[in-house]
Amino acid sequence: MATCKNCGAQLPEDDSIRFCANCGAPLEPDAVPPTAGEVPPSPTPGNGQMPPPPAGAPQQNPYGAYPPPTPPMYQQPPQANPDDKGGCLWGGLCFLFPIVGLILYLVWRQDKPITARACGIGALVSVILEVVLFIIIFIISFALQMSVFDQFSTLLSMML
Ligand SMILES: [Zn+2]
Repeated sequence: MATCKNCGAQLPEDDSIRFCANCGAPLEPDAVPPTAGEVPPSPTPGNGQMPPPPAGAPQQNPYGAYPPPTPPMYQQPPQANPDDKGGCLWGGLCFLFPIVGLILYLVWRQDKPITARACGIGALVSVILEVVLFIIIFIISFALQMSVFDQFSTLLSMML
């Protein structure tokens, strides 16, 4: 027994009848309106889930998804980390304490690239300057010893 989709009234099984005798709603033998109402919801969730996989990159290379996220993560930390300001303070501190600078550089290399860079540069410059200073002191002391030795030898020759 067919019923009206609109009002639910029982209808005579006659294909010639196109409209409900009770409410006058048009009668669709294939019940298109209900089907059309049910079909859209089901494809919608399906479409919501389906597009991401065939989106392109992930499907072509499952491991290709790794490189794209990684660069953004390396580029974001400077922006996301408000503490990563670098600056002369850390550079100066690491200049005074190259060991600390080296440690800080290794620790912050991931989280705070800018600050780590400042520390690394400070420590590096500090080490270089210390090496240069050491060489200069060595040369000066060597020259001093030579001059002292000269004076001592001349003093000796004068005494003798
Ligand atoms: Zn009806």
